[in-house]
Amino acid sequence: MSKFVYADHAATTRVAPEVLEEMLPYLSSEYGNPSSLYSIGRASSLAIAAAREKIASLIGAKPNEIYFTSCGSESDNWAIKGAARANAAKGRHIITTVYEHHAVLHAMDSLKKEGFEITYLKVDADGQIAPEALEAAIRPDTVLIAMMYANNEIGSVLPIREMAAIAKAHKITFFTDAVQAIGNLPVNVAELGVDMLALSGHKIHAPKGIGVLYVRTGVRIANLIDGGGQERGKRGGTENVAYIVGLAKALELAVEGLPDMERIAAMRDRLAREIVSRIPYSRINGGMEHRLPGNLNVAFEFIEGESLILLLDMAGICASTGSACSTASLEPSHVLLSIGLPPEKAHGSLRLTLSHENTEEDVDYILEKLPPIVQRLRDMSPLYEQVGKN
Ligand code: PLP
Repeated sequence: MSKFVYADHAATTRVAPEVLEEMLPYLSSEYGNPSSLYSIGRASSLAIAAAREKIASLIGAKPNEIYFTSCGSESDNWAIKGAARANAAKGRHIITTVYEHHAVLHAMDSLKKEGFEITYLKVDADGQIAPEALEAAIRPDTVLIAMMYANNEIGSVLPIREMAAIAKAHKITFFTDAVQAIGNLPVNVAELGVDMLALSGHKIHAPKGIGVLYVRTGVRIANLIDGGGQERGKRGGTENVAYIVGLAKALELAVEGLPDMERIAAMRDRLAREIVSRIPYSRINGGMEHRLPGNLNVAFEFIEGESLILLLDMAGICASTGSACSTASLEPSHVLLSIGLPPEKAHGSLRLTLSHENTEEDVDYILEKLPPIVQRLRDMSPLYEQVGKN
């Protein structure tokens, strides 16, 4: 059988067999509506309550601070629009960063149309932001700060605990998108001191289409989805029982797997070293110090990332250029531009994201296939012909 290496875990992950097993009863015999009073309805509602309790304890929250949503994007939208609208009478200024996920950036665009003013904090070449930059951006009318815990393209991990402490000192609501951090780093809302935090199931081996928004008790947030009284009247919609149960199991496994992150970081480091030494005109995007363990992002001069992805795919390797959400567009990645890459280098960038499912043999296989593929593409590039060969 030909080799298959999945190295795109930041895009999505395979549903773990243990997760699927926990979900199956709720997709067959246990189909009751959790709001129904009879026994199969109660079984569903008890399953949700148990999942809520498990998730809360795994991230240091209280069960009634956990809200189930349809995905990370919904959690981001709800946190941002909900907190902004609930606090609009106090002020209409929001601080975020230039390299957030589009679920955050586009939610900000919507709020601009409602009269909010947004300050976008810049990041340095390593993908970092100094806490002083946040402090300096705060105004008397700032009502919300939205800052990702870890970036999805270059893996930069921000000092969220320090940032949240600054927000707290100014009595400003602090939200973090932890969609990429969860499963890769310890995530504890009490230790971080955040007011709201977003999670998504499909990055941690639960299915696509389930998310969580943590909202600390006392934080005011307007509803995004009105409906029946589900989620304590805050988020309408009959609950996705099977996926909620699956997410709780996936999070449990992700937390148990955290010690494996050292092995994953070591594999990633070997991959990084070997790629840069074997392939001329290649450079790591973003700093290596505060970075998610499985994330690697490399710029190759004189090639197009899209062609690289297609040739890697033919060799059985799944990776991405920019983020999965932007593969439909030919715009250079806003994240890579934000750390100072010129558009042509952003276009020639490759993201490889490893998880506990990857092995040293996978790394060997990538190292065997990638250099000749890059060379093949360069041999077709007129620019490489002129500049690179000299
Ligand atoms: N936030 C970040 C940092 C992400 O990486 C993603 C997905 O790629 C999302 C939000 C959106 O999550 P979902 O795909 O569950 O809507």
